[in-house]
Amino acid sequence: MKDRFQIAAHYLELEPGIYNYLITPTKQVIVSIPIQMDDGRIEVYEGYRVIHNQSMGPSKGGVRFSPDVTLDEVKALAAWMTWKCAIVNIPFGGAKGAVKCDPSKLSLTQIEKITRRYTANLLEIFGPDRDIPAPDVNTNEQIMAWIMDTYSMHSRQIETAVVTGKPLFLGGSRGRKEATGRGVQIVTLYAMEKLGIKPKETRVAVQGFGNVGSISAKLLHERGCRIVAISDVSGGFYNAKGIDLPAALEYARQHHSLADFNGADKISNEELLEVDCDVLVPAAREDQITRFVAPKIKAMIIVEGANGPTVANADKILDERGIFIIPDILANAGGVTVSYFEWVQNRMGYYWTEDTVNSRLERIMLESFQEVIATAEKYNVSNRIGAYILGVDRVSKVLRARGIYS
Ligand code: NAD
Repeated sequence: MKDRFQIAAHYLELEPGIYNYLITPTKQVIVSIPIQMDDGRIEVYEGYRVIHNQSMGPSKGGVRFSPDVTLDEVKALAAWMTWKCAIVNIPFGGAKGAVKCDPSKLSLTQIEKITRRYTANLLEIFGPDRDIPAPDVNTNEQIMAWIMDTYSMHSRQIETAVVTGKPLFLGGSRGRKEATGRGVQIVTLYAMEKLGIKPKETRVAVQGFGNVGSISAKLLHERGCRIVAISDVSGGFYNAKGIDLPAALEYARQHHSLADFNGADKISNEELLEVDCDVLVPAAREDQITRFVAPKIKAMIIVEGANGPTVANADKILDERGIFIIPDILANAGGVTVSYFEWVQNRMGYYWTEDTVNSRLERIMLESFQEVIATAEKYNVSNRIGAYILGVDRVSKVLRARGIYS
C-alpha cells in the first residue's frame, strides 16, 4: 500500500503534512476477546479495528477471521478501503477489522461468542455515523447479524445501519452477496471491450472459490466466458475445454470445498496463476502474484478480486509485459458500493429491487472504470497508479477543505 501511495503522492505533489496525515491511520484498536470454550476452558483471542481515515465520512470496512492476521495487514487493508471508497465516490472513509482465530477449528457457538465480544469491545468505535463493519474473509451474513444484534442490544434500539452484508430478512440489500463478484464481472467486460476481445472467445482462470471468486466465475460464465481454471485453499483445477461451472458451484455448496472435485485436472494454486488463459482473476488473498510468478503469467488481463493479490515489486514486471490490470481498489469495489446502498436503504427504511441495485452498481463501476483509465492516461502511468492518484487526490482535497482541527 505504502509503495503505491508514495508513487501517487509524487505525481500529485502532495505536501509533506498531507502526505503524513494520509499515510497514518487515525485509530488502531487492539482488543482481547476471552471466550469460554465448549469444554469449559477459557481462551483469549486478539481482535483489531483500524480506522484509516474518516475525511470523506464514517469509515467502512470488513472484518476477517484468520489465524495468521496481523495488525500491519489490517492497517494496509484499512487504507485500501479509504482509496476504494474515494474511487467509487461514496461518502465513506476506510477501516478494517480482524480477529486472530481459525473458524474452521471453532464451533458455531464459539464463533458467535467471539463475534459478540469483539463487537461489545468496540461499541464506542462502531456506529452508523462512525464506523460500519462488513463481511470479509471467513465472515458471513450470520456473523453480520450477530454484530447488528449485539450493537442493538447495547444501544436499546434496532440499529440495522451499523453493519452491512446482513441477511436479506434482517435489513440486508438485494444484490449485496453477489456485489463484489458482479463488480468484477462488470469491469472485466469493459476491459475486454476496450481491448477488443469477445466474452465468448475468452478463457478465464479464477483463484479462490469463496464469495468473490465463485460469483465472479459464475457471472463471467453466464456472459459466455470459458472458465478454464478454478481453485480454493485445497488446490486448483484446470480444464482447457472449460469447467462445468454449475457443477463446480453445486459441488462447493455441498462439500464447502473443491477438494476431490472431479470435473478437471488437479493443479496447484501457483500453477493456476500461470495457466494458459486470457483473463486471470486472483480472488483469494494477498501476495499471490510475486515477482517470481509475474513473468510466467499468460493472461492479458488481470482483474484483482482479492485485496492486495499483487506484491508491489511485481508491478513493474507486469507493466513491462503490457498486461492490462484492473487493480483491487477498483475491481472489488462493487462490494463496498452495495454496502453503501444497504446503509442508505436501512436509513430510509425503504428497500430497492435487485434491478435497481444492479443498475446503480453498473453505473458506478463504469464511471469509476472510466475515471481510473482517464487518470492513468493523463499522468501516463499504469491503471494501478491511476487508481491511487484518483483516490488519494479526492481524499486530500476533502482533507484540505475541512482543515486540521486542533
Ligand atoms: P471467502 O472466505 O468467501 O473466500 C476465500 C476463498 O479463497 C476460499 O475459496 C478459500 O478456500 C480460498 N483461499 C484461501 N487461501 C487460499 C490460497 N492460499 N490459495 C487459493 N485459494 C485460497 O472470502 P471472500 O469474501 O471471497 O474474499 C476473498 C478476497 O476478496 C479477500 O482478499 C477479500 O479481502 C476480498 N474482498 C472481499 C469482498 C467481499 O464482499 N466479500 C469485497 C472486497 C474484497
